[in-house]
Amino acid sequence: SGPEVAALVASRVVDVPDFPKPGIVFKDLMPLFSDGPVFRRMIDGIVAYHGADSFDVVAGVEARGFVIAAAMAYATGKGVVPVRKAGKLPRRTHSASYELEYGEATLEVHEDAFVAGQRVLVVDDVLATGGTAGAALELVERAGGIVSGFTVLMELSFLEGRRRLAPRTVHALLTV
Ligand code: AMP
Repeated sequence: SGPEVAALVASRVVDVPDFPKPGIVFKDLMPLFSDGPVFRRMIDGIVAYHGADSFDVVAGVEARGFVIAAAMAYATGKGVVPVRKAGKLPRRTHSASYELEYGEATLEVHEDAFVAGQRVLVVDDVLATGGTAGAALELVERAGGIVSGFTVLMELSFLEGRRRLAPRTVHALLTV
């Protein structure tokens, strides 16, 4: 159930103070990925929340979003599309720049990544300020996809990323 999966995420997340910069508490979710039964429950929990019929393809944000997106896509028989950091994709791309909690970055998606009107569930590990999510959502729409939702394992609510993404809906397995 939802509360069980939230408790699982809460019990396994490792707080890393001052990474990658002083003052940032990095939420390391890798321990959830490396434990097979835990990883499966987490992926099943996200899929159950959204329902496999609510999206046609999963878009994962580089790099931890790739891991989650690929597992969700496989579990539901859908495809997976990478939203990548600048300079990694080989063909024509749409590009969006934004500010991070700890720096600045650019994301890209292939111009032909989606079939027009495809419903795209966008996934990442952590929602912080919402800059990354906002850029990813913009790119999916510019590439012709329809964002069906945005989903993360953990939301840092004090940074108010959710508010920045309104009116789009955000789902987090765990909000802290
Ligand atoms: P933001 O754009 O500020 O919402 O930041 C979200 C992106 O940066 C996600 O791809 C996260 O993986 C990463 N990120 C930002 N802050 C943290 C944090 N405190 N712990 C772990 N990852 C973070």
